[in-house]
Amino acid sequence: MAKIRTRFAPSPTGYMHVGNLRTALYAYLISKHEDGDFIFRVEDTDQERFVEGALDIIYNTLKITGLKHDEGPDIGGPVEPYVQSERTAIYLEYAKKLIDKGEAYYCFCTKERLDALRTDAEAKKQTPKYDKHCLHLSKEEIEEKLSSGIPYVIRQNNPTTGTTTFDDKIYGTISVDNSELEDMVLIKSDGFPTYNFANVVDDHLMGITHVVRGSEYLSSSPKYNRLYEAFGWEIPIYVHCPPIMKDAQHKLSKRNGDASFEDLIKKGYLKDAVLNYIALLGWNPGTEKEIFSLKELVEVFDYRNINKSPSIFDDVKLRWMNSEYIKMLTLDEFNKMALPYYKEVITKDLDFMKISELMQTRVEILTQIPELIDLFEDLPEYSIDMYLHKKMKTTFENSLETLEKILPKFENITDWNLNNIQNSCMELVEELGVKNGIVLWPIRTAVSGKQSSPGGAFEIAEILGKEETIRRIKVGIEKLQTAK
Ligand code: GLU
Repeated sequence: MAKIRTRFAPSPTGYMHVGNLRTALYAYLISKHEDGDFIFRVEDTDQERFVEGALDIIYNTLKITGLKHDEGPDIGGPVEPYVQSERTAIYLEYAKKLIDKGEAYYCFCTKERLDALRTDAEAKKQTPKYDKHCLHLSKEEIEEKLSSGIPYVIRQNNPTTGTTTFDDKIYGTISVDNSELEDMVLIKSDGFPTYNFANVVDDHLMGITHVVRGSEYLSSSPKYNRLYEAFGWEIPIYVHCPPIMKDAQHKLSKRNGDASFEDLIKKGYLKDAVLNYIALLGWNPGTEKEIFSLKELVEVFDYRNINKSPSIFDDVKLRWMNSEYIKMLTLDEFNKMALPYYKEVITKDLDFMKISELMQTRVEILTQIPELIDLFEDLPEYSIDMYLHKKMKTTFENSLETLEKILPKFENITDWNLNNIQNSCMELVEELGVKNGIVLWPIRTAVSGKQSSPGGAFEIAEILGKEETIRRIKVGIEKLQTAK
């Protein structure tokens, strides 16, 4: 069997949408599963839609996610150039080949004529379609128009009867009546190819065996097949990927400002978690396993398991997956990632490693960190009602007693560490002959000032240090005294 070659062929028109990333990932996995080649091609023939900087984002995304290409504009390869705007001469040459075969023709129709055709069709409630007017020009007429510099396009000459069928590995066999096929433009009046034409020529010349792309291209595939047939080229294997939905009705789309890869990273997701999650959007391994490294995906990926039903981008699932990836980090790795988020709210010199120990198992996404740990910087303004905890059976009175009695014990600790803090608290529990909660809840409340906190009384007190802990206990005592 020929070596598998797939390509990722983005148009640099904006940011890297998760749908684009999934296409890149699947194309990568299909080739790498069989030790094949993964090619990166830039489809920039629609110069009007070109967005400055978009390409950098795409390169960067491929790089950080580890989807390493074997050929591409930046590294070259046997079928360069890999940028379509540098290949315009090739497309013209191939369009002319089709003209020679009678499979394409020059069209000199003016915009006015085309507009009139459209208006006419719309009035008759028909789908607008070019009427092959220029197909019937004589050789001499064509020569004359070309030499007098009249602008032209080159159109595909599609049959008007019969059907065109194509096979997609995911969606099955699809047939259309040729009468529905438009004589689509291959070369535009500016000399640039249309996206559809350049795509077919390049996929063939670059030896692409599996064409992986979004299902939005499904309806164009008959036109592609007509081109392959017109050239007499072998048709590649098509793998169209299902749409990614925001909910049952809406597609995840650039226009709605939905998830781009960059946004997800900014929101505090880990790149490996995002990649893993995206792999499962429309594909499943056929087992219960959900956590896959890229290497594992390469091993198990079988594109025949891609579903054709739309997949829903589920934030809750992605958050869960992200938390699993966070837990898999070493404490050191986590601490490095979390540090910028700590620094957003903490100016004090605290033991961040200790904070990381608390946070690593508690956060789903890194952007949750600041609001969870701001209590280490300043004691929040809090209501004394927080001391009342039904289940723990705490009241203002017993809370005040706890705080007043823990204060001297804390003051007596010379070596401020978790063990000693814990021992002091447990000593008090014993002395008072009460349940742990009666002592621990008020202390936790006093040192954190929050209804819920990462870690309990001991951990927070340890990180705050002796002086700050004592200060906060005193604040608690004052507050509770006013409740009397
Ligand atoms: N340039 C197209 C896009 O960015 C890719 C289509 C394809 O892969 O064939 O959507």
